Amino acid sequence: MRIAIVGAGIVGVTTAFELATGGHEVTVFERRSSVAPLASFANGGLIAPTLLAPWGLAGAAWQRPQLRGVAAWAHLPWLWQAWRTRRPAAVAAQAQALQSLGQFSKQRLLALAQALRLEFEQTPGCLLLLRTERELKAVQPLLARLRDSGVAHELADAARCRALEPGLHEGTPLHAGLHLAQDGAGNCRQFAHLMKAEAQRLGAKFRFDTPVRALKPGKPATVVPATGEAESFDAIVVCAGTEAAPLLTRAGVRLPLVAVHGYTVTAPLRHVDGLPPPGPRATLIDSREQITMTRLGQRVRVSGLNELGGDATEVALAPLRRLYRALDEWFPGAVLERGAQHWKGARALLPDGCPVLGASGQPGLWLNLGHGHHGWALASGSARVLAELVAGREAPLDVQALGLQRLR
Ligand SMILES: Cc1cc2nc3c(=O)[nH]c(=O)nc-3n(C[C@H](O)[C@H](O)[C@H](O)COP(=O)(O)OP(=O)(O)OC[C@H]3O[C@@H](n4cnc5c(N)ncnc54)[C@H](O)[C@@H]3O)c2cc1C
Repeated sequence: MRIAIVGAGIVGVTTAFELATGGHEVTVFERRSSVAPLASFANGGLIAPTLLAPWGLAGAAWQRPQLRGVAAWAHLPWLWQAWRTRRPAAVAAQAQALQSLGQFSKQRLLALAQALRLEFEQTPGCLLLLRTERELKAVQPLLARLRDSGVAHELADAARCRALEPGLHEGTPLHAGLHLAQDGAGNCRQFAHLMKAEAQRLGAKFRFDTPVRALKPGKPATVVPATGEAESFDAIVVCAGTEAAPLLTRAGVRLPLVAVHGYTVTAPLRHVDGLPPPGPRATLIDSREQITMTRLGQRVRVSGLNELGGDATEVALAPLRRLYRALDEWFPGAVLERGAQHWKGARALLPDGCPVLGASGQPGLWLNLGHGHHGWALASGSARVLAELVAGREAPLDVQALGLQRLR
């Protein structure tokens, strides 16, 4: 089949790779000049399928966005829709589908990394830091879920946490930690570049600086770029992240997608060696602040915040200070602020916090987007699933609950 992909973020690139692996003739249209220029550029790096959950699930509400500025009030209808998605049966089905997709995705990522010998600053292990008894109580629903689904985890006391992460500051109160040895982190952008090279090796073509202006569903379906000739394809997969909604609306597909902004700081470690080690060994999550701290090679990436409204280009100082403060509480003086990279990105979010994966309802148009907080963690699996569906085969796992019909 001749297949077009719109968007070369982590989701588009992995989809291109999987479709090219299946022998399809793939063309990727990307508005900007390289892969992973938007949300996949400098995200937190966390690959934590264990923590995946739709918002309606007990203990998962922290992922909900906070309103920022007057502009946020324009999103009230969306927030109302988010509130209404909490029907228990739907939430349970989504939780199950997300968990399976997350685990499947991690396995696919590991298999690809091994088979293709990919290096992308991977670090295994994730520790959720709980400062108080109250924070421990708040994660009880998560613990129950992990127990029920047989997911490996360890509830660690403070001493064990410090043994896992010897650089943790003694002076910062720590009550307990949830250690998820099977989760971890890696550099999403680096992986996207590696996968682009692999996709190209399999014959996929990337057209950079080529915004898609319109999509015409049908058999064949047509891609209309902003400049140049329209082209026909047997299928089009839309992986356009936060910018997908207007394009899809014009093609007859309505998606209640919003952009929720977050920030990262990536800073070089002051010292790479030392006793105790001068920074995180793996990935930590500050449960109170909802901030992640990830070791990426000889750097640390701190990530957090969840703003609905505001502007992607306005990198405010206060949120960045919050990230530095959290890192400094746990690892004082570990990084050099000079030479640090500050970044603001937008997550594409649907009202239930789950991605949409599969047919669009319009002939020839497929959807792989709205991965919100976990697009990096879910990309490899979503791509594999989509490649099977587009080829007319059965998906390797049940993703019915992540279909578009749930948003109607
Ligand atoms: C601060 C922050 C921290 C995060 N931390 C994590 C984390 O720790 N773990 C995790 O799993 N996820 C994390 N995420 C989420 C993750 O980064 C995203 O879910 C993921 O990158 C989405 O990938 P994507 O390919 O769908 O979108 P994007 O990377 O945004 O790619 C979409 C692409 O489509 C292109 N495009 C759009 N419209 C058009 C058009 N009309 N024509 C041509 N091209 C077009 C864009 O230029 C862009 O390149 C984080 C996000 C943020 C903002």
